[in-house]
Amino acid sequence: METTMTETVLSERLETQRHFFQTGATRSLAFRLSMLTFLRQAIETHEAEIYEALKQDLNKGQHDAFTTEIGFVYGEIQRMERQLRRLARPKRVATPLLHIGSKSEIQYEPYGNVLVIAPWNYPFQLALAPVIGAIAAGNTVVLKPSELTPNVSRVLREVFETAFHERFGIVIEGDAEVSSALLNERFDYIFFTGSTRVGKIVHQAAAKHLTPVTLELGGKSPTIVHKDADLRLAAKRIAWGKWLNAGQTCIAPDYVLIHEDVKERFLQLIEEEAFKQYGNGVGVSSYVKIVSDDHLNRLSSYLSQGTIEFGGQVDSETRKMAPTVMTNVAVDAPVMQDEIFGPILPVLTYREIEEVIAFVNNRDKPLALYLFTENKAVEHRILERISFGGGCVNDTLMHVAQHHLPFGGVGASGMGGYHGKYSFETFSHRKGIVKNTTTFDLPFRYMRTNSNSKWMRF
Ligand code: NAD
Repeated sequence: METTMTETVLSERLETQRHFFQTGATRSLAFRLSMLTFLRQAIETHEAEIYEALKQDLNKGQHDAFTTEIGFVYGEIQRMERQLRRLARPKRVATPLLHIGSKSEIQYEPYGNVLVIAPWNYPFQLALAPVIGAIAAGNTVVLKPSELTPNVSRVLREVFETAFHERFGIVIEGDAEVSSALLNERFDYIFFTGSTRVGKIVHQAAAKHLTPVTLELGGKSPTIVHKDADLRLAAKRIAWGKWLNAGQTCIAPDYVLIHEDVKERFLQLIEEEAFKQYGNGVGVSSYVKIVSDDHLNRLSSYLSQGTIEFGGQVDSETRKMAPTVMTNVAVDAPVMQDEIFGPILPVLTYREIEEVIAFVNNRDKPLALYLFTENKAVEHRILERISFGGGCVNDTLMHVAQHHLPFGGVGASGMGGYHGKYSFETFSHRKGIVKNTTTFDLPFRYMRTNSNSKWMRF
C-alpha cells in the first residue's frame, strides 16, 4: 500500500471513529455546529497554503481558486451554520384517521461513519462540500483526496488536523490502492466523486456491507444551440463554461450540437469569445494546466480526430492545451465516445430537434445538459424528453452554484445529490416514528379469534 499507514493502523483508526460515534457525542447540535466552526477557522488559518497548493497542482489563479473552490466552501459552511437548527429539527407529519390518537414525525439520524472519496479537478471544493453535509448530519468523517493533486491533499490533511480530533475526522492520503483498502472496511455511508468506471467499483464494494452511497460521476454533457438562440451570448457562456479550469470540469459542455443554419456564425463568435476570455491559453499565465502527462497525452490524441477550427496548441513543458474547437468529428471517434475532460470542444450539427433527442438518448444519461434557445416549445421538448442530472437553459455550469438546487447525476452519471440542505438530507437517515396515546385503545386492528365481535365479520 503506497501510504504511510499500514492496513492494521488504518483499521485501528477507523475503529476509534466507530467507537466515538457510538458514544453519541456527534449527535448534539452544539457539537456539529462547533465542528463546522472549527472547519471554517482551520480553512481561514491555512488559506494562503490552499491558494498555493491549488497553484502548484493545477495552476489555478486567485480568482478561480476563490470563486470555484475556497469561496464555495465558505458559502456552504455559512449557510449550513445558519440553517442547521431548522433542518435537524424532527418534522411532524399529518395523522390519518386510522392513527387517531397518535402523533408522527420524521427524525433525522446520522448514518454513522462516513467515507468521502474525492477527485482532483476541484480538489478542495469537491472534498469538503460533502464533508460539510456529513458533519452537519452528525457523522464522523474519513476523507480520501486524490493522489493527482498531492499539495491540496496535504493541506486538506493539515486543515483536518487543525480542526478535528482524529476520532472524529481524518484525511487519508493515497492512490487507488489506499482507496481499495478503505473500501474493504465497513462504513455506514460512502460519498464518491469521480469517474463512472471507479464509481462501479465503489458501488460493488459498498454492496458487500449494504452501505448506502452517493455517486457523483462523469460523462459527456451535451450543449444544444438552436437556430433561434442569442448566438453571441451562447458563445460567450459556452466559452466560459468550457474553458474554465481548462475544461477539467465534470459538468463542462463536452460537445456542442448546433442547428446547421447557424454553425458558421457560432464558430466565428466562439473563437472571438475564447480569445477574449482565455487568450491562446498556453501562453497565458493564469490559464489552468492539465493535471498530468497521461491526461495531456490522452487529450493530444483527440486532436487528430477531426478538423481543428482554432486552438490545438500544446505545451508539454507547462502541460497546457489551448482552447480548441473541432468539427468533422465522427460520432464513433474516441473524442465523441470518452468524456473529454479537457479544453477540446467538438461541434456537430443537426437539422431537426428530434435528431438531438435521439442522439443524446442513445447514449449514457448525461450529468449536465445545456440548451440555448428562445423557443419555449423546444425548451419544453428537450427538458421533458431527455434525462440528465441537471443543467441550464441559456447558460452553462450555473446550476452547480445555485445552492437551492440539488446537484447530482442520473444513470451512468451518478445517483443521489447534495449542496445546501440536500447535503444534510443525503447524510441523514429519515427515521419515521409514531408516538401513540395510552389514554384509549381502538379495537379495530386486533384479532378476536374466539369472539363474535362484529369487528371481525369482514
Ligand atoms: P477517478 O475515478 O479516477 O478517481 C476518483 C477517486 O477515486 C480518487 O480519489 C482516486 O484515488 C480513487 N480511485 C481511483 N481508482 C480507484 C479504484 N480502482 N478503487 C477505488 N478508488 C479509486 O476520477 P478522477 O480522475 O479523479 O476525476 C475525474 C472524473 O470525476 C471525471 O469522470 C469527472 O466527470 C468526475 N467528476 C464528477 C463530479 C461530479 O460532481 N459528478 C465532479 C468532479 C469530477
